[in-house]
Amino acid sequence: MASSDRQQNLVDTFGRRIDYVRLSVTDRCNLRCRYCMAEDMTFLPRRDLLTLEELAELGEHLVRRGVTRIRITGGEPLVRRGILGLFRDLGSMIGRGLDEVTVTTNGTELPKMAAELHSAGVRRINVSLDTLDAEKFAHITRRGNLSQVLKGIDAARTAGLKIKLNMVAMKGVNDDEFAEMAAWCAANGLDLSIIETMPLGEVEGDRSDTYLPVAAARDAIEERFDLVPSLHRTGGPSRYFELSDTGSRVGFISPLSNNFCAGCNRIRIAATGTIYGCLGHDQKVELRDIMREGGTVALDEALDRLIAGKPERHDFDINRVQPAVARHMSVTGG
Ligand code: SAM
Ligand code: SF4
Repeated sequence: MASSDRQQNLVDTFGRRIDYVRLSVTDRCNLRCRYCMAEDMTFLPRRDLLTLEELAELGEHLVRRGVTRIRITGGEPLVRRGILGLFRDLGSMIGRGLDEVTVTTNGTELPKMAAELHSAGVRRINVSLDTLDAEKFAHITRRGNLSQVLKGIDAARTAGLKIKLNMVAMKGVNDDEFAEMAAWCAANGLDLSIIETMPLGEVEGDRSDTYLPVAAARDAIEERFDLVPSLHRTGGPSRYFELSDTGSRVGFISPLSNNFCAGCNRIRIAATGTIYGCLGHDQKVELRDIMREGGTVALDEALDRLIAGKPERHDFDINRVQPAVARHMSVTGG
């Protein structure tokens, strides 16, 4: 591609336009959710991470290539020191090519940060919460305190942030809570996404023991609510339903039981500047040295290379003993 053409949008060989980026700012986390991480995780050396300035620069460059939505994720993005500065930098591009900046968080830092996220231009956030039972929460996260997350959710609502809760469905762990969680979300004005466990990275134990197709969650919710198919779309894989008479929505993300790759609109960037074409493959391009040494033309070439090789689909199989890819979800943030 000639350099003059490189401000073109990112379109892959299957005709999918890539306008959504998940940008991980750290792989570290203050929790250790059992399906996500091992207890004794080895994290990336801090010196290997892109600086916050480089992350902002990369964000700007991606917007020039037609990216309209950036989700900040991790690890736990809100534990990275100085992270609000990145939100402010990215937030300043809203309305100038960028439609929105969002974040996925475990909620623990929201009591301190919700208002400033809103001031930076964030309007929607995802908070991950798999249970409303304090003991179960401490077990799943290995160290979390449920009341801190609930306070965070409250702070976010007070700040005017629209919240969607992410709940990973786990057989024998939280499969008795789907209807209760849906009712709680409705009562608190939150939307809910229920997600199947994905085989990413080694964790203690076998994820297939707790894997549960989201259809089971849908059946449980339907025992208590009518689910009316909704036209609401967020550009992601969730298919939404309105919870009867509540105004809240519930979505089901089923990467294993129902492949949705044909509509994929996204790429993922790890905090080191490694950019991945697919959550379920190792296809990647290293951007950090290119950004530091090659300038914008080289960066464009690297992005074009990534997009040209973006795989058609993931091949997750929960029954395979080995995870589909060795990296954990905390490297790319989902
Ligand atoms: N720490 C933040 C949080 O928990 O929201 C952001 C990063 S976390 C990796 C992003 C999302 O991935 C969370 O909703 C989490 O529940 C989900 N997740 C992590 N590992 C997963 C796995 N193996 N399968 C499915 N979802 C997973
Ligand atoms: Fe941390 Fe999020 Fe992974 Fe839980 S899911 S360990 S909160 S990165």
